[in-house]
Amino acid sequence: MLPKNKNAKILGEGRWLPELRAALNGRVITPDDAGYDQARTVFIGGIDRRPAVIVRPANASEVARVVSLARESGLELAVRSGGHSGAGHSVSEGGIVLDLGDMRALEIDAAGRTAWAETGLTAGEYTTAAGEYGLATGFGDTGSVGIGGLTLGGGVGFLVRKHGLTIDDLLAAEVVTADGQLLWVDAEHHPDLFWALRGGGGNFGVATRFQFRLHEVDTIVGGMLILPATPEVVAGFIAAAAAAPEELSTIANVMAAPPMPFLPAEQHGQLIVLAMMAYAGEVAAGERALAPFRALAEPIADMLRPMRYPEMYLPEQEDYHPTAVGRTMFVDRIDGDAAGTIVEYLQASDAVVRVAQLRVLGGAMARVPVEATAFAHRRSRILVALAAFYDGPEDRAVREAWVADFAAALDQGNSAAYVNFLGDEGLARVRDAYPGSTWERLAAIKAHYDPTNLFRLNQNIRPAI
Ligand SMILES: Cc1cc2nc3c(=O)[nH]c(=O)nc-3n(C[C@H](O)[C@H](O)[C@H](O)COP(=O)(O)OP(=O)(O)OC[C@H]3O[C@@H](n4cnc5c(N)ncnc54)[C@H](O)[C@@H]3O)c2cc1C
Repeated sequence: MLPKNKNAKILGEGRWLPELRAALNGRVITPDDAGYDQARTVFIGGIDRRPAVIVRPANASEVARVVSLARESGLELAVRSGGHSGAGHSVSEGGIVLDLGDMRALEIDAAGRTAWAETGLTAGEYTTAAGEYGLATGFGDTGSVGIGGLTLGGGVGFLVRKHGLTIDDLLAAEVVTADGQLLWVDAEHHPDLFWALRGGGGNFGVATRFQFRLHEVDTIVGGMLILPATPEVVAGFIAAAAAAPEELSTIANVMAAPPMPFLPAEQHGQLIVLAMMAYAGEVAAGERALAPFRALAEPIADMLRPMRYPEMYLPEQEDYHPTAVGRTMFVDRIDGDAAGTIVEYLQASDAVVRVAQLRVLGGAMARVPVEATAFAHRRSRILVALAAFYDGPEDRAVREAWVADFAAALDQGNSAAYVNFLGDEGLARVRDAYPGSTWERLAAIKAHYDPTNLFRLNQNIRPAI
């Protein structure tokens, strides 16, 4: 194993880097190269790590070459698709970053309702391209998130009740394992690995391509609805979302109103429910399904309308790198008391951005048997994400304490976690993502495909001994 602080130099002077540069068509970026600082930047702010090398392979065999370099050199390996890991796992201090960002090919078989997608694509890019055919695979709520990380953790988004998690549409994958082999993985080939990939995160290899099922999702009724956030409105929203037909998936952000240009100035800073809603079905039925939400209170802004599905992804600011702390949890109910707690905590904080994000689950996601994939929280009713932005280390401690207290106040005795929403929270929390026998099964599969834990810079599942 090489000493960390000398890694870049040693890689450069030793045989590894020259060999790598000679062997790859893809880009090899070291601290001396222009563009290094940009290449090491990830979405989440406050992460300032300096890898020895960032490699952007051009194809799966180049990925295998980088995996072999990591194995042989002993350097830490970070695998990056969209770079949105909340824990900063897609950049290494002193190690190798394998950045899939130049592998973005997408082959859509519109007649067969399937697509092969390289994992450097973002959710937004895939959705826009599939939208040209009136087709979609469900990802998350943000276009810039990579399909790599999102899919491997599960994928909860605008179609979760209608079509399930992203992994429920995963038909096959190509994966480079720790020994440098490229495997075809599906229900028939390496079924144990296929099970683990669907929720087990980046523990088992580098996924270079996914094959997804596509659904007909063309015109939907959806967009943004903003309501005043009183306890009654928050509880009413959740009740309406649970009672709604499963064509409707909702994401309710209870938060202090940001200074958005379409909001009256007197609303800025006031508590609102900023809901992203998508009814994937007939327009008239969608309008009926949305009526109970509009009736909860006089909307502050009502931008729900028939739209093409890709329009659900809002434009994003480039070079936006928030510093935030958060907590993920599942709850069974948001009744008046829980809604009161949410409003109380959000009112008590002065973080510039503070949010309780509530996603009512169920529908297609809940019909898949719990043991069918490594994502085992199929029966959970509501996914909650609490977050606060911070400014500097002192503020971070304040916001962390607030998030922890808030989570404790909302706790309904379920310690479960959604792996894609975890930060750098330690082994016990990773275990919370994989309840019961899921953990042991994942650890056994890890021992088979990655016995030395080469893929360890992630929400790590150690190989069973
Ligand atoms: C603004 C924002 C919004 C989000 N919204 C949602 C949402 O609506 N729904 C939801 O489910 N999640 C959501 N997430 C969470 C998101 O799914 C995870 O952060 C996910 O890991 C990000 O994937 P990525 O490829 O962008 O990240 P990366 O940082 O590139 O990857 C994260 C980890 O995944 C693994 N990984 C990534 N690509 C590969 C690959 N090809 N092969 C092997 N391992 C790989 C690696 O371990 C890596 O450390 C959101 C995150 C953010 C920051």
